[in-house]
Amino acid sequence: MTDTFSRAVLIWFDEHGRKHLPWQQNITPYRVWLSEIMLQQTQVTTVIPYFERFTQRYPSVQALAAAPLDDVLHLWTGLGYYARARNLHKCAQQVVENYDGDFPGTVEQLAALPGIGESTAGAIVSIAFGKYATILDGNVKRVLARYHAIDGWPGQSGPLKALWEKARLHTPESRCNHYTQAMMDLGATVCTRSKPACEHCPLGDGCTARATGRQLDYPGKKPKKDKPVKSTYLLMLRAPAGGLLLQQRPATGIWGGLWSFPEYPLQADLAAECRQHFGEPGAIELWDTYRHTFSHYHLDITPAYIPLLSLPDKVMEAGPSLWYNVHQPESVGLAAPVKRLLEKLAQLDPLST
Ligand code: SF4
Repeated sequence: MTDTFSRAVLIWFDEHGRKHLPWQQNITPYRVWLSEIMLQQTQVTTVIPYFERFTQRYPSVQALAAAPLDDVLHLWTGLGYYARARNLHKCAQQVVENYDGDFPGTVEQLAALPGIGESTAGAIVSIAFGKYATILDGNVKRVLARYHAIDGWPGQSGPLKALWEKARLHTPESRCNHYTQAMMDLGATVCTRSKPACEHCPLGDGCTARATGRQLDYPGKKPKKDKPVKSTYLLMLRAPAGGLLLQQRPATGIWGGLWSFPEYPLQADLAAECRQHFGEPGAIELWDTYRHTFSHYHLDITPAYIPLLSLPDKVMEAGPSLWYNVHQPESVGLAAPVKRLLEKLAQLDPLST
């Protein structure tokens, strides 16, 4: 049975829903999965060029599974939340190994794969397999929280449970794929975070938040906690013959698996560290400190440019490292602040860096 809510949403979708996005063409589980992972915490316009590059380079889940992780991270550079890219790669490998390259078709099986939560699994099942499944991504949470005036932050179990109940209640048996797409579109284009266009909303008549003028009170905000601030040097070490030292970070943790400049605490004696690990330093140039914010803390970064006058005979540090030539860059995944610094270095020293 289709309720008034889903009927209104489907009518709106027929007239206004987006139907020309790249992942809505040639629909396959692989393409839907890829787009859903990329769209987590990221807007459609940002995702489109990444989706197109990925599907060109890796036209199938087998191609993605066989690619080196470094290539995948390189292609992902700039999209943020790199755990998504590592899980994407791991998930592709599991689909190839455990399912012969065919994505499984149930929410339970999909949600057991790396990087796929219940909502993403629901989106894949409904859009790619055309079967009944419920989603509850950020956009849908906002629409439902407002429509039903559900108090509380959806990160807490009480409000989350209430939202899932409403989400299941409204999901229709027929045209579930269109309904799923419609709810995501409605949240992204009409019931937006700061300026909901209630006058154009198909749910306007029954919406409690609209009736009470409290749209912006829903969904409830995350209780504020001050983020701690950490500080670090990023050492931009330039070899005598050119090239900047990059090291690969451990697979887990911040910028896991990405390539970055060596990092040292602010208390470090840079010249001494440099002599001990990397070679004889020339004049050390400290650049302005700037802040990079992660989900759990702020990182105040002071870039230190250090031309090395000589290199030690022995290889310096444990773990993979390379001398990066900004004019013939390697295909490696770079942490966003490192990418920006490399671009700046290339501009400052266009011939020899
Ligand atoms: S009426 Fe307004 S607040 Fe309610 S769901 Fe529609 S856009 Fe959102």
